Amino acid sequence: MRVLFVASEVFPLVKTGGLADVVAGLPPALTQLGMDVRVLVPGYPKVMDGLELTGKVVRLGNVLGGGAARLLYGRVGELQLLVLDAPQLYERGGGPYAGPDGRDWPDNHRRFGALCDVAAWLAGPEGGNRWRPDLIHGHDWQSGLVPAYVSLMPGRRPATVTTVHNLAYQGVFSKEVLPDLRLPWRMFDVRGLEFNGHLGFLKAGLWYSDKITTVSPTYARQIQTDTYGHGLEGLLQDRDADLHGILNGIDTEVWDPTHDPHLVARYDAAEPFAGKRANKLALQTRFGLQRDPDAPLFVVISRLVGMKGLDLLISAGTTLLRRGAQLAVLGSGESKIEQGFDAAAAHWPGRVAVRHGYDEPLAHLMQAGADAIVIPSRTEPCGLTQMYGLRYGTIPVVRRTGGLADSVIDASAHNLAHERATGVVFNDMDADALAWALERTIDLYHHKPLWHAMVRRAMQEDFSWRKSAARYVALYRSIARAE
Ligand code: ADP
Repeated sequence: MRVLFVASEVFPLVKTGGLADVVAGLPPALTQLGMDVRVLVPGYPKVMDGLELTGKVVRLGNVLGGGAARLLYGRVGELQLLVLDAPQLYERGGGPYAGPDGRDWPDNHRRFGALCDVAAWLAGPEGGNRWRPDLIHGHDWQSGLVPAYVSLMPGRRPATVTTVHNLAYQGVFSKEVLPDLRLPWRMFDVRGLEFNGHLGFLKAGLWYSDKITTVSPTYARQIQTDTYGHGLEGLLQDRDADLHGILNGIDTEVWDPTHDPHLVARYDAAEPFAGKRANKLALQTRFGLQRDPDAPLFVVISRLVGMKGLDLLISAGTTLLRRGAQLAVLGSGESKIEQGFDAAAAHWPGRVAVRHGYDEPLAHLMQAGADAIVIPSRTEPCGLTQMYGLRYGTIPVVRRTGGLADSVIDASAHNLAHERATGVVFNDMDADALAWALERTIDLYHHKPLWHAMVRRAMQEDFSWRKSAARYVALYRSIARAE
């Protein structure tokens, strides 16, 4: 089956979040299962620079009034790419969605509408006798118009899937842009493109796609409620039968404690503790914490934003310190949260330390050297850091939401010896609930046989893409019109 991914990010060329990792990580796993997958992305400067051309260049003319455009066939690593090279739309400084001043590009509807239009064109008769997809799998709002364009195609149409990586981002534009997108006014309807009087890219994707997926089973249920639905809960309830939650995988080669070059000592699930101890001492040194192998060391590796619930940790942090624990924080984001952690570090030198900025090698050392990683998210569609933590034998302390709920098994409060436990999970979105979870974690930490068994169990969990890819293939087969 030929499957076309449509996405606005792909690792390692363009990444602002987990989306890029999925778009790069899932296709190789699908290929292993016999799928023929290509990824259509915009020709941003970084994509044009990093692309290795492998095929002919196809002239497309003026796609949606975005100037002369071409389709390039190429690759990055193992990944087969199709690149929409439209300099008027994508040859700019700044990020994929916003300019250097941080403001969204005013023509984002055209930039991503063009991507969707070309995806549908590729699947139609005019796409020529080239590689023609049987199914188009779009990711997030930037691909939302794909199934809308597909619905207008005469004759045989490809099957369509839309994946929601984060429902908070919806691609909502004034209805006045509709003519720019060459979509007929009759589609501007509640049963179509319309979302609260505006044009909704993600809404369109959710309305017209054959199937909808999101990145964890719990998030799939949550987005059908008022609290998490961002106004789309009604539509998602109506489409419940077509909505599937499939947990993301992780890159088990990049994140592998037996081979990770960023660690001072490598280790495996059979004998993790000497290696973890060496990494812990190195981590304490890096952060200027007291070099104490027995102090329980908690870490945070995260964007410091409200969604991640880290304001709760600032409130609950004294629990850790009272019990002799240490805290190391890596991340940047909202100034209020940054300042909260900075103040704690100033107040507790040698016990709390903070590094702002993005530092991939340090994130690896932290996953290896820490005892526990704290993720008290308000919302978490899937989350990756808890899965990295499990693989590195670092116990996740997480709120029961989204993918956190689906990937961490709680060492229950009443039964610390819970024989399947891989972490500590709490329910309520408040500092007391987190403080209690931290207390439970420290109790477990001091009960070495239980803690060691839990660390080993955590490290044996399988979060590779293999299982999830099989679920996507089953979904594709249920809707594909041709093999
Ligand atoms: P989100 O996509 O909401 O930011 P995820 O847990 O899905 O959260 O993914 C976050 C990714 O970014 C992980 O790979 C994590 O290791 C990484 N990360 C976050 N902050 C930093 C940082 N300051 N330095 C290095 N890596 C970071």
